[in-house]
Amino acid sequence: MLKIENYIDGELSSPASGKYLDNFDPAIGKVYSLIPDSDEKDVIDAVESAKRAFRDWSTRTPEDRHDVLIRISQLIERDLDSLAEAESIDNGKALKVAKSLDIPRASSNFKFYATAAMHFASESHQMVGQAINYTLRQPIGVVGCISPWNLPLYLFTWKIAPALAAGNCVVAKPTEITPMTAYLLSKLCIEAGLPKGVLNIVHGLGTRAGAAIVQHEDVKAISFTGGTKTGEWIAREAAPTFKKLSLELGGKNPNMIFADCDYEEMLETTVRSSFANQGQICLCGSRIFVEKAIYEKFKMDFAAMTSDMKIGDPLNADTDIGAIVSESHMEKILSYIDLAKEEGGEILTGGNRVKLQGRCENGYFVEPTIIENLAYDCRTNQEEIFGPVVSIMPFETEEEVLRYANSTRYGLSASVWTKDLSRAHRVAEKLESGIVWVNTWLLRDLRTPFGGVKDSGMGREGGFEALRFFTEEKNVCVKIGQ
Ligand code: NAD
Repeated sequence: MLKIENYIDGELSSPASGKYLDNFDPAIGKVYSLIPDSDEKDVIDAVESAKRAFRDWSTRTPEDRHDVLIRISQLIERDLDSLAEAESIDNGKALKVAKSLDIPRASSNFKFYATAAMHFASESHQMVGQAINYTLRQPIGVVGCISPWNLPLYLFTWKIAPALAAGNCVVAKPTEITPMTAYLLSKLCIEAGLPKGVLNIVHGLGTRAGAAIVQHEDVKAISFTGGTKTGEWIAREAAPTFKKLSLELGGKNPNMIFADCDYEEMLETTVRSSFANQGQICLCGSRIFVEKAIYEKFKMDFAAMTSDMKIGDPLNADTDIGAIVSESHMEKILSYIDLAKEEGGEILTGGNRVKLQGRCENGYFVEPTIIENLAYDCRTNQEEIFGPVVSIMPFETEEEVLRYANSTRYGLSASVWTKDLSRAHRVAEKLESGIVWVNTWLLRDLRTPFGGVKDSGMGREGGFEALRFFTEEKNVCVKIGQ
């Protein structure tokens, strides 16, 4: 059985403990590879290697760093098909999603930051006749990057690329649930000629390998994407060593549909924003508020389009809905469907585990599920489910829907559907959310700030925000002599 390896000091290696964890293919419900069960010892080795590499990497020019990062981007592009297949098998996502979204974006992340670092600039502040201040933005040192399973290579590279482009060396941990493409990336980094120790990838459990990264005193910053509870733990644990923190956490995003919207475009996009990647995208809109005048029509059309979605083997070209990432996550989703029923919810479509025939008979599949008749403030509508489950609710006024939308502890993203320009701007301003899409969803410009408010996190990724996070500012004040 294939054994995934760590990537430390430029080489692929076994974990110090010699122990491995099972890695499941969720579409067939079987173990198909083994993951290093790394511990503090591996993290210490990785940090030492990163510290050595930092002496050279931090003094290179942005152009020089660009050349190797762009090679990694090109190698990801070259291996699009095999990486997409690996991602689909590891995660359960439909192959067409991995091929059109995950892997192209991983390549773009490296391309974007390889070039962005060459355009990055810092401020100067003139004191007329007295002095000139300028700000140096210098790499921090060794930084930790920890990522989740829903968009494995996409989110892993979204952190690593800016960290490296800014001149840091990285100790990264992909999730133990979907580690395969991070392992394949380490091979591509070797092929691209990334100097040893600049990037180290340590596989293993969050509570062991991840915690060791967070607790290491020479790791100066942590960029983390994952659950809010883990984020809370990291914030507490990182505080005594004053690490810089960027936390991209959970969401419970509202999708607000006004009667004057472009109905067809809204409907098609709402099916995607509800169920893409089995609803396992932090930006999916799981609370759908629909203006009363079109509620009944929307309900019928939305349920019809949803029940037409093809649930199947993720590797089949016509599959829309693949497998849920793990058995325990599937159980969690199903338990939320039960909770919704207890809370008075009515299932319009879906609501069950799906048993497929053949190769995927033991896979973890759940029907895309629409629930109505729930109060906006019940648990189903307040807690993150992170699966193919949405709730639809009617509203009458703008004030009312804003109150519903802003009622959760989360504030990651929101969508607003309306042709009324004034209303779009007014609502966008009042939403408690880091990202607002008007008449669209998941349209991403990598230059824009990305992140959430409230319990959805702190700090922003994307564009120069990430380069600011991954550098330390130093003000130099030069007195002007007579
Ligand atoms: P998770 O918090 O369980 O794990 C995320 C990562 O943290 C994994 O690599 C895990 O091994 C590691 N980890 C776990 N415990 C740790 C610890 N004590 N110390 C250090 N590392 C630790 O999250 P998940 O289940 O993998 O991902 C799903 C969550 O991620 C959802 O809540 C989703 O909303 C969120 N998410 C947020 C964004 C965003 O941009 N805001 C994007 C994607 C996913």
